[in-house]
Amino acid sequence: MLRPIRRALLSVSDKTGLVDFARELSTKYGVELIATGGTRKALADAGLPVKDISELTKFPEILDGRVKTLHPAIYAGLLAKRDKSEHMQTLAEHALPEIDLVVCNLYPFEKTVAKEGVTEAEAIENIDIGGPCMVRAAAKNFASVAIATVPAQFADILTELATQNGQTTRDLRFKLASAAFSLIAAYDHAIATYFLHQQSKSPNDKTPLPVHLHPGFKNIQPLRYGENPHQQAAFYSDVPEPARPCVATAEQLHGKELSYNNILDLDSALNLAREFAAPACVVVKHNNPCGAATSGKLADAFLKAWDGDPLSAFGGIIAFNQTVDVDTAAAIMDPKAKRFVECVIAPDYEPHALEALKKWKENVRFLKTGPLSGGPQGLDYRRVDGGLLVQTRDTGADKPDAWKCVTDRKPTEDEWHALHFAWFVCKHVKSNAIVLAKGAQVVGVGAGQMSRVVSVEIAVKKAGEHAKGSVLASDAFFPFPDNVHAAAAAGVTAVIQPGGSVKDADSIAACNQHGITMLFTGVRHFRH
Ligand code: 5GP
Repeated sequence: MLRPIRRALLSVSDKTGLVDFARELSTKYGVELIATGGTRKALADAGLPVKDISELTKFPEILDGRVKTLHPAIYAGLLAKRDKSEHMQTLAEHALPEIDLVVCNLYPFEKTVAKEGVTEAEAIENIDIGGPCMVRAAAKNFASVAIATVPAQFADILTELATQNGQTTRDLRFKLASAAFSLIAAYDHAIATYFLHQQSKSPNDKTPLPVHLHPGFKNIQPLRYGENPHQQAAFYSDVPEPARPCVATAEQLHGKELSYNNILDLDSALNLAREFAAPACVVVKHNNPCGAATSGKLADAFLKAWDGDPLSAFGGIIAFNQTVDVDTAAAIMDPKAKRFVECVIAPDYEPHALEALKKWKENVRFLKTGPLSGGPQGLDYRRVDGGLLVQTRDTGADKPDAWKCVTDRKPTEDEWHALHFAWFVCKHVKSNAIVLAKGAQVVGVGAGQMSRVVSVEIAVKKAGEHAKGSVLASDAFFPFPDNVHAAAAAGVTAVIQPGGSVKDADSIAACNQHGITMLFTGVRHFRH
């Protein structure tokens, strides 16, 4: 059983609510108040009995307040385990008092650096040292010590003291400790960000980006530069152990150092390849798939993926969902085809396949992920100026059993399979996204256009003669039936799209007019 709070250490920059809280602690519960310089003065001025911290430490505040509470007399009283007799004996031997409650908030670093014209010296002086140490010590020993870091917590503490005979519950102390650690993390992050900004103010500075990013991202690879040579960059990972297969944990087996754009494209390619159970190959350029295919054999999937748009595939990033075998390696390296690829990522490589690929070209990067399972995990972050957008991943929403045919003509079995394939490729294409497929092979992609019908036109142009008899997937609904007319004119026989437009009836009528079949998925896959 914890003893009632007898001694509180108060050291606050923001003195909001301080006097009322301390008065109640002192007068109602007989708590001994100990405080640092400015805090002590505020309490004494309000007529409260309060001891100066130096009475405890037997040491003055020195160095303009840089050293106030950094003293064993304070830390022993904060950190001693109350249920460990050796700890309590040590306190007794050195006549060190137990501290049961800490009230501390930190030098206003963020407010200071937000001020117009703040100097570096001012900013540095506002980095609190003793405060965070004390907060962390109290939070670590939450089993016995309560830590208040914001005035809003005073009321909760007083409520407990009133209902728990002058004590606090473990539950409350745990919550207070959790808030305390969050505060420290945010505080240190603000300091690190300030340093980073100061550093990047000098245009020729090539200092690497920070090792740790909030929340929990660790710098795993410095990069030569970002999207462009004048941008600094690094690769961060938040994958916990045991590592799961993804780009951040992939092992590079051969080739030149990865670039920022390589990593982006590898991630996109891998996440599409892993959508399929059958052997699959994806070719990505500038973060969009230009080719993708599945087949009974991986080598065949590769050839079909490449042939979907050989012009764009040149210099592409290739992902496989299965071990690269000797036939697939031979297809990649085929001297007649004169292929150029930047990177290949796959769960693994057969030893002979890897041996041959390594000899093929010195610079091509080969990466191995280990067996793939499931899709990408964790939250999706996107930086905007002054903020961060966070969303869950676009996974698990599709229910093909619930797809609805909305036209007079139903899809043939072949069309249904092609639509299914095209839909999952389309999910990985930048909006407005249109994918044309034949069988399980992409023949044309329209990506990233500002109007959907232009994406249709581009996909049709890319497909050329292959557009005839193909199926079409659209990542979002058709706002107008012009998309259907354009598809029909190119010879498309089946369409898959989410549905949900006020003009759905017009698009359905257009399909019926052209004898096209159309499925509604009820799910949208915008990718901005
Ligand atoms: P006061 O106004 O009471 O003189 O100072 C309160 C502030 O000092 C609090 O924000 C607290 O976090 C900070 N503080 C407490 N101990 C130390 C220390 O040893 N060094 C520094 N730099 N700040 C401290």
